[in-house]
Amino acid sequence: MKIICIGRNYSDHARELDNEVPSEPLFFLKPESSVLHKRHAFYIPEWTSDVHYEVELVVKILKRGKAVLEKFASRYYCEVGLGIDFTARDVQTELKQAGHPWEKAKAFDGSAVVSEKFIPLNELDKDIQDLRFSLLINNTEVQLGHTSDMIFSVNELIVYLSKYMTLKTGDLLFTGTPAGVGRVVAGDKITGFLEGVQMLSVNVK
Ligand code: MG
Repeated sequence: MKIICIGRNYSDHARELDNEVPSEPLFFLKPESSVLHKRHAFYIPEWTSDVHYEVELVVKILKRGKAVLEKFASRYYCEVGLGIDFTARDVQTELKQAGHPWEKAKAFDGSAVVSEKFIPLNELDKDIQDLRFSLLINNTEVQLGHTSDMIFSVNELIVYLSKYMTLKTGDLLFTGTPAGVGRVVAGDKITGFLEGVQMLSVNVK
């Protein structure tokens, strides 16, 4: 299983980090070992002092796909979940300045929070580009996303990604974060919602 993450897929978030809005999707991978174990706390690694939360809609890949055509892209998923792409922003900034890959800042153990629950789209009875999701820190809403604001739709992402790498059953696609990212500190309690359903709860230590 691989986790494919999209960067800068919401223009308000790209701008908050002084990045240009991309003209084609930007992606990176997180390994299977980055997934935070179920019901475990997230421990801030000792080598960073600036871990940010990024809440994202997560799409579970339903079947193997290579060079998928746009008209068939929606056949490659049927369930959505919620995730947090924890990012060591201080380390990422150094890597970006050096022109290096981002993995050290993005792929560390525990950096991928994935909801246990995935909701079938037909149960939501909504288009995948019409979903609302949010993140709360200590019960205060810090991020609110609407998938209609994605720069590249889920179908466009599937077409694009499958040109470069085969999508496999069970792969997870983190579709990018809206504005409002920020630092977590020990003691924070993070909760995430998708279409009003609580999907995540993580304690930061
Ligand atoms: Mg992200």
